[in-house]
Amino acid sequence: MIDPYGRRVDYLRVSVTDRCDFRCVYCMAEDMEFLPKKDLLSIEELERVCATFIDLGVKKLRFTGGEPLVRKNIMKLFNSLTPYLESGQLREMTVTTNGSQLHRYADQLVDAGMKRINVSLDTLNRDLFRAITRWGDLDQVLTGLQAAKRAGLEVKINAVALKGVNDKELNTMLAWAGDEGFDLTFIEVMPMGDIGNESRLDQYLPLTEVRRLLEEHWTLEESSYNSGGPARYLTVKETGKRLGFITPMTHNFCESCNRVRMTCTGQFFLCLGQNEDADLRAALRSSEGDEQLRNTILEAISRKPKGHDFIIDRNNHGPAVSRHMSVTGG
Ligand code: SAM
Ligand code: SF4
Repeated sequence: MIDPYGRRVDYLRVSVTDRCDFRCVYCMAEDMEFLPKKDLLSIEELERVCATFIDLGVKKLRFTGGEPLVRKNIMKLFNSLTPYLESGQLREMTVTTNGSQLHRYADQLVDAGMKRINVSLDTLNRDLFRAITRWGDLDQVLTGLQAAKRAGLEVKINAVALKGVNDKELNTMLAWAGDEGFDLTFIEVMPMGDIGNESRLDQYLPLTEVRRLLEEHWTLEESSYNSGGPARYLTVKETGKRLGFITPMTHNFCESCNRVRMTCTGQFFLCLGQNEDADLRAALRSSEGDEQLRNTILEAISRKPKGHDFIIDRNNHGPAVSRHMSVTGG
């Protein structure tokens, strides 16, 4: 699949649920209303749509949410895709998770063919973790991370940099990640969805500032490593691990964008920060064959926008797009 700007689209991120067992302050309001279950794609529909995308050339699948590992029967979906990994038609299948269920699932993820996972963790301080996630338990996540390590999964930690919240802890997190053998990526907070009384301007910490703070303690070396995603990587000389920065606000990373996203209701988004979409659920449910689904996907790819226009400043307090990150999956 090639878009109008000549970019090859071979990476699909699939949100398998909008529900979550956390309520992170930058992601959700505390009293979120979730979708009626009947609106969600069934596990069988998710299997069908993933298989169709693989057939159209998708090489990498990432499952996200909401929290993907709280979706009922999620392993059935992953296991149904293992044969595509074994045949080489799919290069990688992975998840982005908050880690709360990893103690239960780490071994099963490896059995399904996953090699690396992303785990979101913004702090190592128990009280702060509770304050950021509202409902989360840090010890449960740390236990899950150990299970992932034992199972042989490579782990990348994703941390959202939050001004006045975890900016004192950047060095501790980098040292901890180095000791555990995890890569670490910092993410700038993005203006997505109404988050109740919280303000994104208060939360926003530019990663140029994060880098400056880290460079007071660590030797950060330029790295040519490229995961194919928007992160720019450095190597931390002292730990030998990678340090990534995802900076949608201070840089535009769209020129090499190879990805598209689908929500848990089958809404297909061509860009995280724009509203162009297509209804894959209607296409899936309109016939038993996959012809219409394929055509709808290909037509949508021909409308992939050039880039996003996220902006957080004093004149622009509202979200750039009204949907929450937990809808499109981050
Ligand atoms: N629940 C899983 C998790 O937390 O990893 C997967 C879904 S979550 C929406 C995916 C990623 O998006 C997480 O790393 C989270 O920190 C990040 N995220 C959520 N809202 C964000 C926002 N407004 N700006 C930047 N990152 C955000
Ligand atoms: Fe849940 Fe992930 Fe959003 Fe936190 S960031 S509320 S864990 S979906």
